[in-house]
Amino acid sequence: MQVTGYVKALEKVDFSISERETIGIVGESGCGKSTLGKTLVKIHEPTAGSIIYFDPNGKSYDITNGLTKEVRSTFRKDVQMIFQNPYDSLDPRMTIRDTILEPIQTHKLFKNLKDQDRYVRELLSKVGLDPDYGKRYPHEFSGGQRQRIAIARSISVNPRLLICDEPTSALDVSVQSQIINLLKQIQREHNMAFIFISHNLDVVYHMSDRILVMYLGNIVESAPSRAIFDNPTHPYTQALMSAIPNWNPRERKLGTVKLEGEPPSPINPPTGCPFHPRCEFRMDICARAKPEPTEISSGHFCACHLRDLTIDSSRSAG
Ligand code: SF4
Repeated sequence: MQVTGYVKALEKVDFSISERETIGIVGESGCGKSTLGKTLVKIHEPTAGSIIYFDPNGKSYDITNGLTKEVRSTFRKDVQMIFQNPYDSLDPRMTIRDTILEPIQTHKLFKNLKDQDRYVRELLSKVGLDPDYGKRYPHEFSGGQRQRIAIARSISVNPRLLICDEPTSALDVSVQSQIINLLKQIQREHNMAFIFISHNLDVVYHMSDRILVMYLGNIVESAPSRAIFDNPTHPYTQALMSAIPNWNPRERKLGTVKLEGEPPSPINPPTGCPFHPRCEFRMDICARAKPEPTEISSGHFCACHLRDLTIDSSRSAG
């Protein structure tokens, strides 16, 4: 087979997540956010960089190149993922009971069959489904119900981190907010950390403590959610904010920023700032040099040459 090119799905991605924190990752399709989620859960292996996992006792493990025997079981229990499409993520040949029980049996949480059945019934009612549904098969359920089943399965082993990859985008609008509310309730009750991936900044804002904005495999802005909402600084974030229907740019003292065209192919990414072909504020330097993230206020980072200019001019003025 002839190799015609390589896709660099993730390039500048540097962050950590603490216990019980929710990080939202937002960006258009193809920006690398799902690849990031799958890399964290070890479905994809990174070719560079490092991933460090801290177990419940605070011991650190470098899991970049795979999971050693020592850490595999704890990591697999600690980090769970919910996928975008509940039609694909459930095995059609397995009953709902067996689907939910699979991780419980893998991690040997309950030996006694009676306890297992009781626990499955509890989980089904926790996610808002009839406990008797355990005997049925996935095809008997709607998309929203299947996503509830996937959530029950993922929380069954009490993970410390749940990665939610566009958990509502394949669902009818009418059930999206129900699933969001269910996830919020589960997080409150189970005290787990979330990585919430979505193309919808409005949804991510309502879920997250901190938001990472991704464009073409790079984090272009990261900040506490309120700071992103009140003071979106990168032109790409401003464009995403402008697309939120009830967001009032005049109230935020910011003009509407248009987002035209499609993101470039990651096979042949642009030089310099990855956003420059679509940016209405681009300058000569933007095509030549890639901007580094700069801290513009506490915990608020932006990778844009405009921010460097603002900081430099304020420094020289001072
Ligand atoms: Fe636009 Fe330049 Fe900032 Fe990139 S670095 S977002 S092209 S102004």
